Amino acid sequence: MIHQPTIDDPESRRPTSVEVDVGQLRRNWEAVKAFVAPARAMLIVKANAYGHGLFEVARHLGPRADAIGVAVLEEGVLLRRLGITATILVTGGIWTDQIPEYIRHDLTMTASSVGRLQQIAQAAAALGKAAKVHLKIDTGMERVGVHYYSAEALLEAALRCGPNVQVEGIYSHFANADAEDLSHARLQLERFLEVLRFYERRSLPTPLRHIANSAAVLRLPESRLDMVRPGILAYGVYPAAHIPRSLEVRPALTWKSRVVYFKVVRAGDPVGYGSTWRSDRPVRIVTVPVGYGDGYFRSMSNRARVLIRGRSYPQVGAVCMDQIMVAIGDDSAFNGDPVVLIGEDGGNRITVEDLAGWAGTIPYEILTAINTRVPRIYRNA
Ligand SMILES: *Cc1c(COP(=O)(O)O)cnc(C)c1O
Repeated sequence: MIHQPTIDDPESRRPTSVEVDVGQLRRNWEAVKAFVAPARAMLIVKANAYGHGLFEVARHLGPRADAIGVAVLEEGVLLRRLGITATILVTGGIWTDQIPEYIRHDLTMTASSVGRLQQIAQAAAALGKAAKVHLKIDTGMERVGVHYYSAEALLEAALRCGPNVQVEGIYSHFANADAEDLSHARLQLERFLEVLRFYERRSLPTPLRHIANSAAVLRLPESRLDMVRPGILAYGVYPAAHIPRSLEVRPALTWKSRVVYFKVVRAGDPVGYGSTWRSDRPVRIVTVPVGYGDGYFRSMSNRARVLIRGRSYPQVGAVCMDQIMVAIGDDSAFNGDPVVLIGEDGGNRITVEDLAGWAGTIPYEILTAINTRVPRIYRNA
């Protein structure tokens, strides 16, 4: 295997960095757990823990979670290599060739078809090991999972797949728990509960049942079942702006940079690629070393705002790959002045939701897009 030095070394002193408040993450997670008790809670850490750092989040919060959820095999393998021993469910679809890897690393698989279950049983027998499985029922998302209307065959097969396969859970996923109208989410829950009656009818023990993401945790208490699977809420961000703030969680991530250049631009002289912005009077402009190559979306060009010494200023011109320009009017700024891209300064605040609004996307994409080129610094660990 090729070992490459990583660029996200916190010792690098790159002026652009993400700070993660581990103490806040812990408080968020405790708040979520208390909110859903007695249901168990699986912490979702896919996509670099929503940008907060896969390993550090799993290391600090994993021991306080009943299980950890990732999206792809490689995330689970990485956590195992780093010594994380918790139950890890991989929620994505399985590519057959990778089944032995799941088993070798004791990663819980998502099984969505009878054929897949058989392949898992064969691979486990060949390795002489036990494979752990959660069955996935599609109740209206059309992503992975056996359709709720043809799930019975899978549940049947799961009863007969032999001693090498441990069917520990059964789950589904909401498509619209964050929508204003909850009728589709309620329908999905009903469909899931109907599938689960299979066990009741046969007086069989039901595997661990789960369906609730963050939005459902907040809005559909009846969907908590045996376990919930919150992601974004644990990071202190609400899944959508219209959802009432019924749970006290706060963002744990701050994105900062520094002024690295200052100049005065003459009236009428255009700024940046494509010359998309100019001022009709002389203007003071600073350059900040962050760009779309770091995950600061180009679609925010001429819309975003940043805080410099606690004051809010507009980003001007097109966002470059590695730099942005900010107009500071007649104010002054100096090389090294702190710039807040996400976070608070001087009573002002820029939120993940603000960036999502400027970029025309959702908070999830803003967080997960912050590139690994940006070093992560952990506080209050
Ligand atoms: C991403 C994901 C979650 C968490 O979703 P949030 O909206 O961040 O709470 C839960 N379950 C599955 C299957 C997911 O893919």
